[in-house]
Amino acid sequence: MNRSNKTISRRDFAAMTALLGGVSLAGPVSAQSFGDILGSAKKVAEAASYSDAEMKVFFDQMSDDMDSKNPVAGPDDPYGQRLAALSQGLESYDGLDLDIKAYLVQDVNAFAMANGTIRVFAGLMDQFTDDEVRYVIGHEIGHVQREHTKKRMQGALQRDAAMSVAGTASGDVKRIASSELGKFFGDVITAQHSQKHERQADDYAFDFMQDNGYDAQACVTALEKLEAMSGGGGGGLAAWTSTHPRPKDRAKRMRKKLD
Ligand SMILES: [Zn+2]
Repeated sequence: MNRSNKTISRRDFAAMTALLGGVSLAGPVSAQSFGDILGSAKKVAEAASYSDAEMKVFFDQMSDDMDSKNPVAGPDDPYGQRLAALSQGLESYDGLDLDIKAYLVQDVNAFAMANGTIRVFAGLMDQFTDDEVRYVIGHEIGHVQREHTKKRMQGALQRDAAMSVAGTASGDVKRIASSELGKFFGDVITAQHSQKHERQADDYAFDFMQDNGYDAQACVTALEKLEAMSGGGGGGLAAWTSTHPRPKDRAKRMRKKLD
């Protein structure tokens, strides 16, 4: 778990402690602060009740927002063509409809969202073979399928729901305020994963490679490349290495699975 997640957990824990024990421990509580406590509890209850369909709307909003801010490779672009060719047959996988596109951005990065959006950056494609790009795609799908992405969204909603999410006039479709989308993207997509979640996503990617007849050796070589990049610290580097720590240990683990 990374530092910011730890901070958040601690804060949530403190809030929960206040909810459970605050009244008796602190003695008399004013109506105002008791109201605040009830308000917090209501916020958490609301966040926990978001359906998959509601969450999909939020992920669609975040995808659209990212696509509007980054140059998406079209079907005639060489990166778009290469990505379409190497992901042929992956229009849907493991019950998830996938929308795989490249960003013409020189970062070594990629992300997936729970609505099936997958974006691979040109900088990563420059460094990686087709099978290594497939490993990254499989790994990112793993974060979605193991519900890491959804859990983060629920966490972000619990922290921010009251301020950031509003229904329409008819009250049925809730949307994240557009000014908050960047913040949600940071909390849900670019925050560092725990080592446990990385292992789960790597294991998922390994099976993904084998199930689709790709070369699972690419799990190892991709992670070794990431290790070399994170050691070098050179330019153009490496959002994926900062959100995906310890590639060396992970490469070792993947090699063991291969043997
Ligand atoms: Zn990961």
